[in-house]
Amino acid sequence: MLQILHVDRSELFRKVMQEIILRCGHSVHSVATKQEALAYIAQQSVDLIITAMEFDDGDAESLILDLPQASKKDIPAVVVPSNDSLELRERLFSLGVVDYILKSEVNEDHFKHFFATLSAEDELSRFMRDMRVAILDDSPIILKVVHRILDMNGFRYVDFYVTPRELLESGKTYDLYLVDMVLPELTGDKVIMDIRVRQPNSIIIGMSQFTGEKSIATLLMAGADDYIHKPFDAASLISRIKINVRSYQYKKRLELMAVTDGLTGLYNHRFIFERLEEETAKVARYGRPLSIIMLDIDNFKRVNDTFGHRAGDEVILSVAHAIKASLRKTDVAGRYGGEEFLVLLPETDMKAALVVAEKIRNTVALLQFETKDLAVTVSAGVAEAEKGESFEALINRADAKLYTAKRNGKNRVES
Ligand code: GH3
Ligand code: MG
Ligand code: MG
Repeated sequence: MLQILHVDRSELFRKVMQEIILRCGHSVHSVATKQEALAYIAQQSVDLIITAMEFDDGDAESLILDLPQASKKDIPAVVVPSNDSLELRERLFSLGVVDYILKSEVNEDHFKHFFATLSAEDELSRFMRDMRVAILDDSPIILKVVHRILDMNGFRYVDFYVTPRELLESGKTYDLYLVDMVLPELTGDKVIMDIRVRQPNSIIIGMSQFTGEKSIATLLMAGADDYIHKPFDAASLISRIKINVRSYQYKKRLELMAVTDGLTGLYNHRFIFERLEEETAKVARYGRPLSIIMLDIDNFKRVNDTFGHRAGDEVILSVAHAIKASLRKTDVAGRYGGEEFLVLLPETDMKAALVVAEKIRNTVALLQFETKDLAVTVSAGVAEAEKGESFEALINRADAKLYTAKRNGKNRVES
């Protein structure tokens, strides 16, 4: 359910919108002025603002411009103007407005559809708006057209290049490249090849006037993800981009799923093992320090038996958060088994690793749960890698220390 704020000076229209929004299953607060809107946002959480163009004390544009100060967060806004104009649309979209619905087109079906697509599209649009985009085309007209289309669709970071050299020598990297096939100096496929080598994960879309199979094949062979024929209209270009962004996101999600644990989001057993193998190889090759922490939740069977499996899962999740919160960016945490965790601390000696382990132990002991009387502690074994030691031997040493911690009374760290 969305918490919606509706701003309109007409009482009748506020009533109409209220009924529509409530019937769509969302909650709404209606106000007549900008002042009231900002005051409400400052105090309540709002997922979406639906606003008229003009109020007695300001207009939609000034409301949106004043938003960050009032709310400190990015609330999507939909503007419902009485009159349409291309210039107004451009101005509003450049302010980050997510949609534009004419007052005369307001009806329940329209909003039902709008709310349904909002959550899915919202994620995609937000992602797209923040993408860094490079356009390479030697035709100023094409550059202008593409600029206008991307602008209208809320893209915020777009750079233009007229020659391949400018782009390749800029030293900048982008999430999305739109590359013309016919260029001075270098042909488009050479440019695409060059970009692909440097940016294996970016989206590259070739733009080509030719309809011949050969040019499309050349472009895809060079490493483009997709192509679009020139001339194109706004809808075709944006849908091409969307399709590619969607599959890019799916790919990213799948890659992440393959290496993470579903419950905690920490790395899974296989990944953490692979990383450990790499890190111990670095110890052997460069003599860099490496420490590991093996953690196990104390008396976890009792948690499950007393409070149920769901509470048990909640505990595992909270412990995982506590571990993550205690680590640096370069540290790697994994769920080693059911209620066991393995933390890799590259560039860290025993002394520093003990501080981290103690921090985790302490954070977990202070965790509070909604379930009454539920409390949890962890025990940890810490080991620093020795040069030439296998990763199996290192794990065994940490495991042995963990066992010592359990024997010595639990809720403690041993090394
Ligand atoms: P100790 O202090 O010696 O570690 O005692 P313990 O009870 O934690 O020891 P043990 O390792 O024998 O028990 C772990 C239990 O964790 C057994 C298993 O049923 C439970 N468990 C393992 N994975 C999960 C999980 O994903 N969710 C839940 N809820 N329980 C799990
Ligand atoms: Mg345990
Ligand atoms: Mg265990």
